[in-house]
Amino acid sequence: MTAFSFSVTHADGRARRGRMTTAHGDVETPAFMPVGTQGAVKGLTHRDLESIGAAILLSNTYHLYLRPGADLIARRGGLHAFIGWQKPILTDSGGYQVFSMAARRKVDEEGAHFRSHLDGSAHLLTPESAADIQAQLGSDVAMVLDECLAHPAEEAAARQSMARTLRWACRGRDRFLALRDGLVPGVRVTNPGQAQFGIVQGSVFPHLREESARETVAIGFEAYAIGGLSVGEPSEVMYDMVDRTTVCLPEDRPRYLMGAGTPEDLVEAVARGVDLFDCVLPTRNARNGQLFTSQGRLNIKNARYAEDDRPPDPACGCYTCRTASRAYLRHLYMAGEINSSTLNTLHNLHFYLDTLGRIRDAIVFGRFESFRREFQQSLSRQLHDQ
Ligand SMILES: [Zn+2]
Repeated sequence: MTAFSFSVTHADGRARRGRMTTAHGDVETPAFMPVGTQGAVKGLTHRDLESIGAAILLSNTYHLYLRPGADLIARRGGLHAFIGWQKPILTDSGGYQVFSMAARRKVDEEGAHFRSHLDGSAHLLTPESAADIQAQLGSDVAMVLDECLAHPAEEAAARQSMARTLRWACRGRDRFLALRDGLVPGVRVTNPGQAQFGIVQGSVFPHLREESARETVAIGFEAYAIGGLSVGEPSEVMYDMVDRTTVCLPEDRPRYLMGAGTPEDLVEAVARGVDLFDCVLPTRNARNGQLFTSQGRLNIKNARYAEDDRPPDPACGCYTCRTASRAYLRHLYMAGEINSSTLNTLHNLHFYLDTLGRIRDAIVFGRFESFRREFQQSLSRQLHDQ
């Protein structure tokens, strides 16, 4: 038995307001998952994350497997105990990072052979080992290993890759169920309530997306993710693929759009029935001095902010906007202060989480469409640079 469940509490058009229950508590959806690659969100403490209302964290299996190692984390009692975060955690399969380093990996039917970016050592990631490692980490949601195809891809290559992803999904699911039943000796399962999500692939070809969705659902996972998007295709293409995929997924399971995206992407994907998101954009851009605001994007390094006493976003209630001026944030950035990353990240994540909170409220009150329209209008006015 899994501790995992999901229920849609309100619907407004195709947008859904729901609650996902995991072994470490509930997540109100639609939800955004901050990315804590190495078991930490760069620049923030867990206390900061809690202060801005983060309900679930994403962590990267590839990085934790290589360092400090899944065995070591399992001996600490799993990832929650090791990093001191008692709320839900989702881990990716490790596949995305392995597939990103084209020169250091080789893929065959067995899995992905790769060399560590840390010490060059040889490793093999298979659907089975991806499930084993995540069982040791004890995340609340584990992702099945899929093949991540580069964009753009020819249709024949996309079809082959989608078919392999399905074969891997069967292997990954079998292994997950064996782990759950205690049938894999030598692997310490640190969270018996773990759930596993399947992943729909198919590049930008609607019929491949539909076939992938149908076949992945037939294997049977706790929920379903949409992978292989937000990889360089135009936004309209991504929205269209999301549109055509969500209609093929069960109404009573959460839908997770992997790796997306901009604030506009989140709103547009919610409008098409997506419930979960993760993206490095708010955290990575914060470290590069780019702030997401209710009026568009603001590059704090710009000289025009040198003596600007206003907060980054006058409409934002985060700690950064309550205490720091643009002039101060620009100074911290130019001086290379650690606090620059911390304050910028705090604001950007607050903006994302607050946007999702406003989306959830709008759905409950049946005014998601007007929220969507106002959101687009305020971003298109763009008072700041970019
Ligand atoms: Zn703020």
